[in-house]
Amino acid sequence: MIPVNRPLVGTNEKRYLTECVDGGWFSSEGPFVKRFEGEFARQVGRTHGIAVSSGSAALDIAVAALGLGPGDEVIMPTFTIISCAQAVVRAGATPVLLDCDPDSWNINADLIEQKITKKTKAIMAVHLYGLTTNMEKVCALAERHGLFLIEDTAQSIGQFCGGRPCGGFGDISVFSFYANKNITTGEGGMLVTNNAALAERSRTLRNLCFEEGKRFVHQELGWNYRITNLQAAVGCAQLEQLHANLIRKKEIGRRYSVLLADLPVQQPLPHSPWTENTYWVYGLVLPEEHDLDGAAAGGYLAAKGISTRPFFWPMHEQPVFQKMGLFSGQKLPVAERLARRGFYLPSGLGITDNEIEMVAHAVREILQ
Ligand SMILES: *Cc1c(COP(=O)(O)O)cnc(C)c1O
Repeated sequence: MIPVNRPLVGTNEKRYLTECVDGGWFSSEGPFVKRFEGEFARQVGRTHGIAVSSGSAALDIAVAALGLGPGDEVIMPTFTIISCAQAVVRAGATPVLLDCDPDSWNINADLIEQKITKKTKAIMAVHLYGLTTNMEKVCALAERHGLFLIEDTAQSIGQFCGGRPCGGFGDISVFSFYANKNITTGEGGMLVTNNAALAERSRTLRNLCFEEGKRFVHQELGWNYRITNLQAAVGCAQLEQLHANLIRKKEIGRRYSVLLADLPVQQPLPHSPWTENTYWVYGLVLPEEHDLDGAAAGGYLAAKGISTRPFFWPMHEQPVFQKMGLFSGQKLPVAERLARRGFYLPSGLGITDNEIEMVAHAVREILQ
């Protein structure tokens, strides 16, 4: 079976893990956590890094640290992972969903302004599947309307947008280091910001809102979203490989593009006016007239020993939110079509060129 993702282990993971074991530092108090935070924040040009246990945890903290809550609206894409919307919903705020651009699959930033109301407090921009949102436009809008900006950079670690590093835009940016991201700590995440108060608040929320002085007396509720020294050690080693990882990601994407060029399916754009595709995953969208939908194509490929994943299911069609009375009657047709017609191929950093050819061959067979 060719797995949908196989991560790439570099040269120093084992060495740094051995340092943790020999030094006896396993918990979040260990020295690799601060080192990872500092080195990671510097990479994206931010002054503060706060490492956490997952990207979803980072989103919870970002929303809470900005003080978003009941009565507040947050503009965000419908086509994304549930972590984005659940952070907002759990805080008691309301997601206001945008459809995606049919070519880049990211939101079209031109559609944000018409959604801004008196209740709008924040925009959550999410970079998807190797391309990015037009951040120059989003930043200008956030500034003009006095809105907070959260950037979800989970899929764009090491990427640039308009010549600036992703993760460097807006008030606070969040990352995930799950095994399928551009670098991994197994599970893990990070918040980065230039705002010292937001950084401090994020650190407190990460650590159960323990207070200096009266340690077990709490003024507020937080979470235990701490990362371990072991994970941070792997993160430091992975960060050394980030540049090479991005080069390989782009190569994987270009290989698929060449091998599948003549097939009647929509493929990822190689670039947009503001970024180059880093092919976080290699997605395909079947035309509506094709007999197969994304799920059926995935089934046929699985029978040939190839794992795929369907595209995201839009937030406005999530049963969990519909049961809460959210988004009823909303129609966001591009995201609905992508969810049903789209799927992605094995795209992890560990895939070999030979495997890419086997996958492309199998895709050709099932589509013809
Ligand atoms: C992976 C991902 C997350 C969640 O990260 P976890 O570490 O899996 O919790 C959030 N947002 C986006 C866009 C992601 O791709």
